[in-house]
Amino acid sequence: MLIASHLSKHYATARGPVPVLDDVSLEVGAGDAVAIMGPSGCGKSTLLYILGALEGPTTGTVSLDGKDPNALSDVEQSAFRNEHIGFVFQDHLLLPQLSALDNVLAPTLVSRSGKTESERTARARDLLAAVGLSSRSDHRPGELSGGERQRVAIARALIEAPSVLLCDEPTGNLDRASAEAVADLLVSIQQDHQVMLVVVTHSQVLASRFARTYELNERVLVGR
Ligand code: ADP
Ligand code: MG
Repeated sequence: MLIASHLSKHYATARGPVPVLDDVSLEVGAGDAVAIMGPSGCGKSTLLYILGALEGPTTGTVSLDGKDPNALSDVEQSAFRNEHIGFVFQDHLLLPQLSALDNVLAPTLVSRSGKTESERTARARDLLAAVGLSSRSDHRPGELSGGERQRVAIARALIEAPSVLLCDEPTGNLDRASAEAVADLLVSIQQDHQVMLVVVTHSQVLASRFARTYELNERVLVGR
């Protein structure tokens, strides 16, 4: 389970604190798919980064699989993220000089899972097949379309079998057809891999694909 309790966040700036989140609580259980909507600047990325321990809350706590990632040392926290959390960003953030296959394998370079190289490669190939890109595994990101890159990024996010997949505007840079393909993929991946899914988006079309929808409104999370 992913449990966020009474999160608040403000950014300290030279011109004083910028309040972003106020008393946000959220529970995501096994098999849950959650969309969080809201306009640009409302704090969606901030909330997602706090859920994924890329950012600490100002107050409140996060618990994932029974652990508070913010209570871990930096080294333990990055290992925890690697093992438990998959991220997909609006910009795919693939490494341009690596093939699709090597991009998917990149997180395993720092993995403590103990899997052999051939086990890792087999899983990466399975994931590329699952996102419909078996035939493109040797291609670099520059040789793929925006939608294909995002599908590689989704495969990469799943390589360590995370319990939660966090997606930040995953279709924000895509045309309508590619956005639909990525949305279809997220829905089927969530079911096939039984991963908890949290998607933040300003797209009503994308959000409507998921069972639970919230809106971040005036720093508060409201069910829709
Ligand atoms: P969204 O993803 O919904 O567009 P963000 O979470 O990126 O929103 O940002 C929410 C608010 O927090 C915005 O007003 C933004 O300017 C502010 N913000 C984000 N990061 C920082 C930062 N590092 N320092 C100060 N303000 C920030
Ligand atoms: Mg954002």
